[in-house]
Amino acid sequence: MRVGIGTDVHPVRSGRECWLAGLYWPDVDGCSGHSDGDVAAHALCDAALSAAGLGDLGEVFGSGDPLWAGAHGADLLTEVRARLADAGWVLGNATVQVIGNAPRIGTRRAEAQQVLSAALGGPVTVSGTTTDGLGLTGRGEGVAAVATVALDVAEQPPAAGRRDVPSI
Ligand code: MG
Repeated sequence: MRVGIGTDVHPVRSGRECWLAGLYWPDVDGCSGHSDGDVAAHALCDAALSAAGLGDLGEVFGSGDPLWAGAHGADLLTEVRARLADAGWVLGNATVQVIGNAPRIGTRRAEAQQVLSAALGGPVTVSGTTTDGLGLTGRGEGVAAVATVALDVAEQPPAAGRRDVPSI
């Protein structure tokens, strides 16, 4: 088994669509970023890549790469899952904690867990917390996320030859 950790923080931008934990949240200001600004998905990607020794989010999904402009978190997780499979890993389990004032993740926890688990190919649990008004998350200036991922060796060896074209 291998474990990895990932964190992400994005600034909240008034009027931007909010995508968080793989879900669209109407009537909530979203986070700015090259992709959809989903800090929970990004933290999970980083944790998974870290556990597998496959680099990090910035290396795999470069912010200058137009392929990933506006990409949704679930799409990034699906790509990470493919890279894990290529390297002979499967998800054991993952957890991500969202830190911020809005949205309240717990109100749609089951839905978020379903979407993220489907994308990453194993059990992903989701939790939320606030910082009681302290710091950038407490002032509503940004949303943060911390994730951990545990990987197991795949029972089936990876197919011969790595994909040379991203899956999305
Ligand atoms: Mg990010």
